[in-house]
Amino acid sequence: MSSQDALAARLYYTDAYLRAFEAQVIERLAWEGRPAVVLDRTAFYPTSGGQPHDTGDLNGVRVVDVVERETDGAIVHVLEGELPGDNVHGQINWARRFDHMQQHTGQHILSQAFIAALEAETVGFHLGADMSTIDLNRAPLSEEQLAQAETLANEVVFDNKPVHTRFVDKDALAKLPLRKPPQVSGPIRIVEVEGFDWSPCGGTHCRRTGEVGVIKIVRVERRGAETRVHFLCGQRALADYRRKNHLVLDLAARFSVGDWELSDAVERLSEEARLARKQVRALQEQLLEYEAAALLAGAETLAGARVIRRVYADRGIEDIRHLAQRLTAEPNVIALLGCGNAGNKAQFVFARSADLPHDMNALLRLACKTVGGGGGGRPNFAQGGGPDGARVAEALEVAWQQLNS
Ligand SMILES: [Zn+2]
Repeated sequence: MSSQDALAARLYYTDAYLRAFEAQVIERLAWEGRPAVVLDRTAFYPTSGGQPHDTGDLNGVRVVDVVERETDGAIVHVLEGELPGDNVHGQINWARRFDHMQQHTGQHILSQAFIAALEAETVGFHLGADMSTIDLNRAPLSEEQLAQAETLANEVVFDNKPVHTRFVDKDALAKLPLRKPPQVSGPIRIVEVEGFDWSPCGGTHCRRTGEVGVIKIVRVERRGAETRVHFLCGQRALADYRRKNHLVLDLAARFSVGDWELSDAVERLSEEARLARKQVRALQEQLLEYEAAALLAGAETLAGARVIRRVYADRGIEDIRHLAQRLTAEPNVIALLGCGNAGNKAQFVFARSADLPHDMNALLRLACKTVGGGGGGRPNFAQGGGPDGARVAEALEVAWQQLNS
């Protein structure tokens, strides 16, 4: 096939709106383990230039992938099953194709808008299943700058400019204010957004800019000296707006405010949560105070010191430590506190007031032996434990006896 024939065989070059066509099989092959065919003409767009392939069917057999063969540029239709017959009726999935046309044409407009507004050139393009991106050779970009380019792009949409595609030779090419140089040789296909943008491109585009619908920048990512701009066009932008509008109205209803008051409402809620956390901490402190006072009131006297011995089944070690600190802030106090139960590990905090001579470290090691573990600390404050949570009370008894000896 000559290169001219190859171009003519790509029906989407001259008519991006062609949804069904007749063709002949000129080659049958296997492509990555699946049956595939090359046709004498096709409306199926192969993955290329940042635009994903079409789907659809040939004689009712689903087309699952369309690729451009590197060796000769032939368009390979990868099929779900064997294709019956060599006379083919092909049909493309129009919803998918039109979506790609909206995103792709929108990209041309947005890329040129970034040049016109900010002299930021597009160095990369990706048309994704959910989101499209362009990479700009400029960073960072402010919100105002992004809005400037976005506004210009949408003005071009509202102007409903015609979009022309044509093949040009070298001489004609030299006269065009191209946005980027062509990456292929031979006759170059130019896509012109009338009076606004001229780009070499083999993709499928809308006839007029109005068909693109709204062009919306959704978010940007700084990537070193470049900026990645995520954008949506047409149906995708509408779907995104619908989803976000629902989300905002739902949140506003939950706060019983208007959507314009949401930020303030969230701010108030965060502040309330912060104050509530502060209050909880103060109340916990108070509670500990009361608990310490009650424990001190019921303390046993041993060798002249007030001794508090307690086993807690399921209290956190942090909590126990605070309690021990609170108790021994008073003079003449020894706190032997343990937590744990059968099936859980044992934990101890042994502490004493600064005015007492007892070695809590030695006492703790002794208690830990009973539960099969260890620990340590300072003479006035030690912490430790062991695996046998069922013997916490027994371990405290051992410590008690030691104090009493
Ligand atoms: Zn294009």
